[in-house]
Amino acid sequence: MSSVLFEVVTPERTVLSQQVQMVSVLTGGGELGILPRHAPLAATVKPCVVRVKLEEGEDYVHVSGGFLEVLPDRVTILAKAAETAEDIDVERAQRAKERAEQRLAQRTEDIDVRRAEAALMRALHRLEVVERSDRAGRLLARRRNS
Ligand code: ATP
Repeated sequence: MSSVLFEVVTPERTVLSQQVQMVSVLTGGGELGILPRHAPLAATVKPCVVRVKLEEGEDYVHVSGGFLEVLPDRVTILAKAAETAEDIDVERAQRAKERAEQRLAQRTEDIDVRRAEAALMRALHRLEVVERSDRAGRLLARRRNS
């Protein structure tokens, strides 16, 4: 099956750079599935879990928001922050989740609700990436062993 180069870049580093068969990403205009030879486009990216289809299964990347560029030979997401499962510190994400939940439960006037909601979403997406990657990894390992 044909593939396209997919890169996820943050101001600090290149998080991912690999040939993929499809990229699913949440843009300002909704969920978008990008296959090789997709028409060129630029879009904003919402905080989401990006799903990547590989020859041997699926991979997942958290992006906290940014921009998408589709060119004939590559698909690039420029993100504020992004991580694959290997990068994610689960305990840190769990702590961030609990902190945000506590802030939202208190809902006192001096807390910024939108900021807490955004932090909660980032933490949940990070935990989702780890969980789904774990599951996909186990499936891949099982397939290889059978
Ligand atoms: P925290 O409150 O734990 O700092 P955050 O959602 O506020 O989380 P961001 O501002 O989105 O963090 O990211 C700041 C930097 O920290 C980025 O480089 C991001 O990749 C990294 N980062 C955030 N949370 C984690 C995590 N759980 N594991 C690994 N890296 C993380």
